[in-house]
Amino acid sequence: MKVIMLGAPGAGKGTQAKKLAAKYDIPHISTGDIFRANIKNGTELGMKAKVYMDQGLLVPDELVVDLVVDRFKNPDCEKGYVLDGFPRTIPQAQALDTALEKNGDAVEYAIDVDVPDSSIIKRMSGRRACVGCGATYHLVTIPPKKEGICDTCGAELILREDDKPETVEKRLNVYHEQTQPLINYYNTKGILKSVDGTQDMDVIFNEINNIVES
Ligand code: ADP
Ligand code: AMP
Repeated sequence: MKVIMLGAPGAGKGTQAKKLAAKYDIPHISTGDIFRANIKNGTELGMKAKVYMDQGLLVPDELVVDLVVDRFKNPDCEKGYVLDGFPRTIPQAQALDTALEKNGDAVEYAIDVDVPDSSIIKRMSGRRACVGCGATYHLVTIPPKKEGICDTCGAELILREDDKPETVEKRLNVYHEQTQPLINYYNTKGILKSVDGTQDMDVIFNEINNIVES
C-alpha cells in the first residue's frame, strides 16, 4: 500500500501516518523527521535544511526528492509506505510520479486531513515532540501520562522551534501557496480522499481505514 498524507502543518498527518504504518506494518516516511534527525546528528544535509526550517520555509526540492527516492530502495518499503510531509510542492509530486512510473508503480491514495487554519494555531502551540523517539503529544488533546516526559521512551518533550506562533503563521502561508495545490493535483489523478481532521483521532483513523480497505 502506497499512501500520501496531505494537510496543513499540524493537521494530524503524522499522528495518523504512524497509526496506519503500524497497522499495516509498513514504514512511516516523514521528511520532517528525516531532516530533524540530520540536524540532531549535525550532518551537512541537516545544517542546510535547518536554515529553511527555522524560518518556516520549505527545504529546496533538490534536497528532498533524492532523499525520499533513495529511501524507497530500502527492503522495508517492499510492501509499501506512508509518506508524511512529502510531496509538499508540485515539482516534488511530479518527481515522485516519475520515479515510481519507472518501476510501473504509482501512489494509491492521497489522503487530505482537512483542518481549518484557526484550529491549526491551537494544535501547534500545544504540540510537544519527544527529543528521543519523535513521538508527538498535545498538551490538551493527547497529553503524555507524565508531564514533559515521553510515554514511549522516557525522554524529554519539547515545543519544536518551528511550532512557535510567529513561525506557524509563516508555515501556514507557505502551505497555502505551495502545498495546497497538491489537493487538485491528486484529485485530477482520481486518488484524492478527504477526511475531516477536526474529529477525534480514533474517528479519523477509522475513516482512513475504510478508505484504504475499500
Ligand atoms: P502534522 O504531522 O500534520 O504536522 P501532528 O500529527 O503532529 O501534525 O499533529 C499536530 C498536533 O495536534 C499534535 O500535538 C497532535 O498530538 C495533535 N493532534 C493530532 N490529531 C489530533 C486530533 N484528531 N484531535 C486533536 N489533536 C490532534
Ligand atoms: P514537518 O515535520 O513535516 O512539519 O516538516 C518540518 C519542516 O521540514 C517543514 O516546515 C519544512 O521546512 C521541512 N520539510 C519537511 N518536508 C519537506 C518537503 N517535502 N519539502 C520541503 N521541505 C520539507
